[in-house]
Amino acid sequence: MSEKKFWQEEIETLARPQLSALQLKLLQEHLAFAYSRSPYYRQAFDEAGVKPADLKYLEDLGRFPFTDKKVERDRQLFAPDLGDMIAVPEEEIVFVSASSGSTGVPTLSPFTKKDFDDFQNVESRLFWAAGMRPKDRYLHALNFSLFVGGPDVIGAQNLGALCIWAGTVPSDRLLYIMKEFKPTITWTTPSYAWHLGESALKQGIDPRRDLSIRKIIVAGEPGGSIPATRSAIEELWGAELFDFYGLSDIFGACAGMCSEKNGLHLAEDHILLEVLDPDSLQPVADGEPGEMVLTTLQKQARPMIRFRTGDIVVRLPELCPCGRTHARFLVQGRIDDMIIVSGVNLFPSDIEYVVRGVEGLTGEYRITVYTENRLVRFDVEVETADGYESCGDMLSRQVIEQIKQRSGVQPRNVKVLANGTLPRATHKAKRVVDLRNVEENAKGQGI
Ligand SMILES: [Zn+2]
Repeated sequence: MSEKKFWQEEIETLARPQLSALQLKLLQEHLAFAYSRSPYYRQAFDEAGVKPADLKYLEDLGRFPFTDKKVERDRQLFAPDLGDMIAVPEEEIVFVSASSGSTGVPTLSPFTKKDFDDFQNVESRLFWAAGMRPKDRYLHALNFSLFVGGPDVIGAQNLGALCIWAGTVPSDRLLYIMKEFKPTITWTTPSYAWHLGESALKQGIDPRRDLSIRKIIVAGEPGGSIPATRSAIEELWGAELFDFYGLSDIFGACAGMCSEKNGLHLAEDHILLEVLDPDSLQPVADGEPGEMVLTTLQKQARPMIRFRTGDIVVRLPELCPCGRTHARFLVQGRIDDMIIVSGVNLFPSDIEYVVRGVEGLTGEYRITVYTENRLVRFDVEVETADGYESCGDMLSRQVIEQIKQRSGVQPRNVKVLANGTLPRATHKAKRVVDLRNVEENAKGQGI
C-alpha cells in the first residue's frame, strides 16, 4: 500500500465551493453559539446591531465587530479569570495556555476537551504536510510552561512519530540529546536554529554530518518564509525548513508549509481567513498585502470572532500544486514592526531578505529607526563574514542598493561591522532599535 499523502485527505482537498459551503454552515452555527453562550459576544453584537441570523453569506461577516488582543485583555480584567468571552462553564475547560504578556497582562487561552483534540488533530495535519511520518523521531524543544506550543508534541505523537519531550533546555543539553537520540525532526525559532547550528560547529559537531536532523519546523519570526534565511539554515543543518504560524489566542499552530514551501496552508475548516486593508478595514484582493483577521469556526471554550492578528500577510491566489485546497498565505511582518519611511511600508523582514542574500555578510543585522527634521530615517548595521573584512564599502553599497530595489526606500547609512559585533539572539531576535519616541520625548522636555 502506498503511503498516504494527506493526514485528512477529504477535508484537506475539498474543492473551494464545498469548502465555502462548509465554512458558511460552521460560521452560522458558531455565531449563534457565541451569541447565546458568551456575555461578551451578546453585548458586542447587540451594540453593533447585528444578529447571527444576519449572516447569509460568508461576506456578511464584515458586518460583525472585531476583536483583538486588547479586547481579550480587557474582558479578562472585567471578568476574572477567564473573561466573559468564554462560552462554556469552567468545568468543561480542560486546558489553559497563557501568552507571554510581553505587551501587558498575560492573556489566557482556554480549551474544552473537543477544542484540544481538534487543536492536536490540526497539528498532526500540519506535521504530516511538512513530511513527518510515523518512522520519524521528533524532538520537541518548545517551552512547556503555559506556552500554547508546548502541547503540540501530542499532535506529533498522535501521528505516530517517536516523540522526545525535551522542552527548553540549554543548547549543550539539546545537542547532547540530538547526538544520543538521533531525532530526525525538531521545532524551534529561525534565530535559535541558526544559533544552535553555530554552537554545534564551535563544539566541533557538524550538524550536517554528525546529527540526524533532516527537517526543522520554525515559527515565531518571519525568517522561515524568507528564502535567503531559509536556505542559510538549511545549508547549516543539511535539513529542510518548514515555516509554521501560530497564535495562542486560537490554536498553537494554525497554518504550515507543505512540500511546495510557498506560503502556509491555513486549517480552513477550523479558522476563517480575512485579509483586510488595515486602514479602511475592507478586504484586499488576493495577492495584495493586508492585515490577517481570523475567525474560529468550531472552538467552543472561547470563540474568537474577527480577531485582528496584527500580522500583515498576502493570500496567494493560485491553487497549491500539492493538492491541498486550503488558503495559503505569506507573512510579511507585524504591523507594530512596520516602519513607514517616505510613505513606504517597510518591514524588518525586507531588510533581512536583502542582508541574508548578500555574499560576504554573516546575515546578522540591526535596524535603527529615528527621526531627523520630523522625517523617519533608518540605518542598518551588518557584519562581514570571515575573509570579507576589506570589502566593507562594496558591501555597504550593495546593501543600500538592494534595499532600495526591494522596498523603494533606502537607509541613510549602512555600517559594516566585524563578525561577532552584533548581539546574537537565541530565541526571538530583537533587531529593531526604535529611537523615534526617545527623540520626541527629549524635544518635549526641551532637551
Ligand atoms: Zn501545498
